[in-house]
Parts: sequence; C-alpha cells; structure tokens
Amino acid sequence: MVTSSAARTALDLTADLPLPVLEDFYRDLHRHPELSLQEHRTAGRLAERLTGAGFETACGIGGTGVAGVLRNGAGPVVLLRADMDALPVQEETGLPYASGTPGVMHACGHDLHVTWLAGAAEALAAGRDAWSGTLLVVGQPAEETGRGAAGMVADGLYERFPAPDVLLAQHVAPGPVGLYPHSPGLLMSASTDVDIVVHGLGGHGSRPETTVDPVVTAAYLVTRLQTVLSREIAARESAVLTVGRIEAGTRHNIIPSTARIALNLRTQSAEVRERMLAAIRRIASGECLAAGCPREPEVTVGDNFPVTVNDAETDRRVAAVHTDVFGPGTVFDPGPAMGSEDFPHLVPAGVPYSYWFVTSTPAAVWDAAPGTDLMEKFQAVPSNHSPRFAPDLSTVAPGVRTLVSGALAYLTE
Ligand code: ZN
Ligand code: ZN
Repeated sequence: MVTSSAARTALDLTADLPLPVLEDFYRDLHRHPELSLQEHRTAGRLAERLTGAGFETACGIGGTGVAGVLRNGAGPVVLLRADMDALPVQEETGLPYASGTPGVMHACGHDLHVTWLAGAAEALAAGRDAWSGTLLVVGQPAEETGRGAAGMVADGLYERFPAPDVLLAQHVAPGPVGLYPHSPGLLMSASTDVDIVVHGLGGHGSRPETTVDPVVTAAYLVTRLQTVLSREIAARESAVLTVGRIEAGTRHNIIPSTARIALNLRTQSAEVRERMLAAIRRIASGECLAAGCPREPEVTVGDNFPVTVNDAETDRRVAAVHTDVFGPGTVFDPGPAMGSEDFPHLVPAGVPYSYWFVTSTPAAVWDAAPGTDLMEKFQAVPSNHSPRFAPDLSTVAPGVRTLVSGALAYLTE
C-alpha cells in the first residue's frame, strides 16, 4: 500500500508515460554512442527534450555538458543527474538497435540514464502543479574518464544555475528487473590509476650482461605488487590492485631500455589509498635498485575517482519512497561495491546526496544464467562494460519513476 504523498504523486505523474516515445529515444541513443567529451549529439537530443518541456537549458558546460532548470515556486533545489558517455567497446549484443559506430558502445548503460532523466524531467514539468521548488537537471559528459563532473563545476555550472540542496543519481546494474539497491553510506570505491616507467639499459638479446633488463624488473615488480594488498593492508579493509597493462620491447632479440606498467587501485578510505601508493613507490624503487637500473623509476598518479558515500538520512528518505512506489522487497542494501563514480565531483561541499541502482537484466537472460542464488547469477550475467550488456527495455518506466519519486520526496514536503 502506498502511504507517502511523494509516492502517490509520483505514481500519478508517471501513470501515462509516453513509453513508445521514450523507448525510441533510448534506441536512438543506443544506436549512436559517443565517447567521453564527444557527446555532442546526445547532449543535443537531451537539450531538445528539456527545452520542449519548458526548462531553461544550456549546452556546452564543461565541454559537452547540459543543464536545464525549472523554477516552480518556493522550495528546495533538487538536482537530478545522468551521465551521457559511451565506451570504446565493440558491441556484441546482436540487438536490432545495436551501435552503428564501430568500436564504440553504450556498454555502461548511460543511454538509459539519459532516457530516464528526459522522461523524469518531462513528467515533473507536466505535473508541476503537484509540487513546488526548483528542479535542476544535469546531463553530464565523461563519467568514464572521471573528468566530466569536475569539468562542469569548473566551468561555472553553479554560477549559471542555482546550487542544489540535494543531488540524486542512479545507475543501471545487472540483476533481475525490478530491484532498487540502496546503501545509506559507503556505496562505491575510489579508483586511482598509477603508471610506472622502469628505466633499464637496452642492448643485444645475446649479451644480457651488458644491459639492465627492464623486462625482468617489470616482471618482478608485477609479482611483488601482489603483496601490497596481501601483506600490507589489514584483512578488514577492502581494496583491489590490478595491473592492467605491461608494455616493453619491440623484437625477440632486443633488450629494451624501458618497460611500462599501468595499474589501477580501488580503495574505500583515504588512509588505505595513501598506504598503497606509498607501498607501490617503495616497491618500484626497491626492485629497480636491486636490478641496478641506471635511474629511479617514474611513478605517476593519474586519473582518479573519489569514494561515493550516500548521506544516510537522504538515502533512507529516498529508499523509503522507492519502497513505497515499487513495493516491499524491491529495495535492499547491497553493501559497498568496488566500482567507482565521478558523481561526487558534482556535489558542492557538505550537500547531501543519494545514489542508487536499478537492475536491468532481461528475465530470459537471468533465468538462463547458471547458479541458484542471486549472487551466483549476478556473477554470470553480462555486466556493465561487457560487449553483451543489454538492459531490458521494460526498465525505462521504473527508472523514470525512481527519479520522479526521489525528487518529489523533497519537492512535496
Ligand atoms: Zn562505466
Ligand atoms: Zn556507468
């Protein structure tokens, strides 16, 4: 039974969603994916809908960002955010509306996020008599590179538009359609890229005694880095260190002069992150010293994402409305994940936010997945970033409802 007025109003305002229109919009975005900071067409399509719904809209914020505002009387400023970028992935879904751009795919589902945002903006605009306050809608570029949210803020997003009192965002996730995972605290991990360059001394493969072989040093380094987590971080902490790339040399019989290692960290506290970075620097120096490298290695910290930590009170409030809208058993706490988001960069200091997930695996795919419990199946179905990731179209309406009801939790009080 629906008890809160926010939930009742949300169900009212989304009772007659133009689903064929929204599904067409989604399929069109899916067919035309654009990489980070190249989301010109996507941004244009979103801006068109916002302007059509009566929002005062601006494009080109922080590169390709879009924002629209609807001022509707006294009340809080609620920000709804969707990211817009696709990934350098060759699509393998076989869908009739699969990507028409070779090597680029909406493999993270941001096309669905944009569709949800457009649908919610239109539903809230059409039902503006039922609420009061200011609605700020943001189409954010370049989430995948971790630069889009910060770029929009640096480009004066909150000078050109009112600063929010609360921010809401959501992500499509694998799982049987109809679940809305919420965590009232730590939700996603920080991500840090690190590059290491090992400087050796190149030469002929037949005379290694005249060289310092950076390939061997890099190999030791990769192995030794595995001990950062297992030997230096307490078992109660959660963290990941993955070497995703190792590169050296040109031919079988040439000892190269350098080797490069690219690795990524996932951490859930600043202390563990600092400790891991210090260990990486120490191990890199130590291995190079042991090998007799002519120069210290270069260790560079690159792109990074912050931790995503929901404000507990805000998240409980939104989760309660979602439970009201979708029914008991649809909202649960999955605990923190190792994935990362740049959404917190969009949040002004001290402003609360809630970020949640919407599950999207088609029933047939979920049922056919091996395993008996939720976690086993969850591991088996195509996840975000997979070339086979294909959210079910039936999630268009619920993803609009989550945003509308989340916003109304603040705009009907
Ligand atoms: Zn992604
Ligand atoms: Zn994503």
